[in-house]
Amino acid sequence: TQFRVHSLHECFQRVISLTESEATRLGHEILYECTQEQINVVMDQDKMVQLLLNIVKNAYEAMPENGVISLRLNRQNQYAVLEIADTGKGIPADQLEKIFHPFFTTKDSGTGLGLSICHKIVQDHQGTIEVESFIDQGTKFTITFPLASKDE
Ligand code: ADP
Ligand code: MG
Repeated sequence: TQFRVHSLHECFQRVISLTESEATRLGHEILYECTQEQINVVMDQDKMVQLLLNIVKNAYEAMPENGVISLRLNRQNQYAVLEIADTGKGIPADQLEKIFHPFFTTKDSGTGLGLSICHKIVQDHQGTIEVESFIDQGTKFTITFPLASKDE
């Protein structure tokens, strides 16, 4: 694995270009807001893109059609803050702590591995991941990573 200083803005752009045709097909709208393009983190860029793709894919699967997925990238003190929110069916409160466990799935043909891989990728980057969800309103994942210092 290759850990280097990379732009999270660029990761989001890659994820958007990889998923926008599927979004259009499903009638979903992707919104992306980035206050500052220079938000850099020491990362394995392919892993970072995989992390975001897994979460975006779950968001698509939680919305039947004409959903909205909102991506946000900000910095707060010495941290990059990433938000991925959907307008999908939500996650019942009693399932919230299980979703990161390997093989936990509520889908007929789900593997239950996506979020456990996300959790591992976040840990490997000294980050945190949190989820907030309301039934029939939607789900929001918030991820933070320490920013790369200038001389990295
Ligand atoms: P899979 O997608 O194969 O089921 P994941 O690990 O990606 O496995 O997700 C585990 C479970 O978490 C899903 O089956 C679903 O119940 C729940 N989940 C994850 N993301 C969302 C979301 N955005 N909206 C609603 N439920 C979600
Ligand atoms: Mg999944």
